[in-house]
Amino acid sequence: MFRNRLLALLLAVCCVAGLSCAAAAAEVDCDSVYCFSAEDFSGETPIAGICITSLPDKKVGSVMLGSRILVPGDVLTAEQAAQMTFSPRLTEFDIFDSGDLELCFGSSESALADIQSRAAEILHDGKFPLLLGGEHLVTLGAVRAMVEKYPDLHIVHFDAHADLRDDYLGAKLSHACVLRRCHDLIGDGRIHQFCIRSGDRTEFEFAAAHTEMHKFDFTGLAQLTEQLCASKVPVYLTIDLDCLDPSCFPGTGTPEAGGVSFLQLLEAIRTVTKANIVGADLNELAPTLDTTGVSTATACKVLRELLIALDKGWPGFQV
Ligand code: MN
Ligand code: MN
Repeated sequence: MFRNRLLALLLAVCCVAGLSCAAAAAEVDCDSVYCFSAEDFSGETPIAGICITSLPDKKVGSVMLGSRILVPGDVLTAEQAAQMTFSPRLTEFDIFDSGDLELCFGSSESALADIQSRAAEILHDGKFPLLLGGEHLVTLGAVRAMVEKYPDLHIVHFDAHADLRDDYLGAKLSHACVLRRCHDLIGDGRIHQFCIRSGDRTEFEFAAAHTEMHKFDFTGLAQLTEQLCASKVPVYLTIDLDCLDPSCFPGTGTPEAGGVSFLQLLEAIRTVTKANIVGADLNELAPTLDTTGVSTATACKVLRELLIALDKGWPGFQV
């Protein structure tokens, strides 16, 4: 499978706290913005805060992660992000942008160590780590930190790809191997995969023995969420945005036909966040691969709705 790709890396780590927002507030005209969560909004909440001040308003640096070259790319300006992502619900809690990580050139292990360290710092502070990535390998750094605090961690994984290879072109640290490396840490029966529609034979054989894989869509997610809620186990949610159909999300390195719609993903997010989600990431946005900006706008909407959904699922938001 041809998977060599150039990607822009957008990596920021937000920790999401309780109240007393320190994020910059901006006046946004609510009426001009379509709000997916409008049913939850009384219309009486003061319009003040925005969510995606966490996205940098400057270009991110180049990094090399594994064998793949990640190039700098334009990411959203705060103004664009506000226009694309505003929701009154987001005025009810805080999002703290802990900044872009400057990752080491040429060493995946070093980059992962930096990601793990930042995630551990956020967890140590009792906050909720949310990582935004290009490269899906960021998940491994976060999960390494998560299992230190939550040894019984489960992972819910939305992706077009199984990401279960033992190695990819000889590299054990690759987006194509990231869930396999997570399995090395947490073991059998704790990785729950959805929307999978691409992988090699060994990956599907591995999944049959070691993970719970649901192909093509979110069938089974509601039942899984009931189980996760009943057991109250900590859950890490990793969303590879290429689970979406390329017709609505072409800005990604390995688009796969036959994906889910934005509304299906939104419904899935609202479902799974009823579980005890303790950390999450959104990854594989490659803005430079979609010059129309549609993919970036879609990623912002997913991020916004994820934050709003987590409000119901994570006690930290209730503080
Ligand atoms: Mn993928
Ligand atoms: Mn992936």
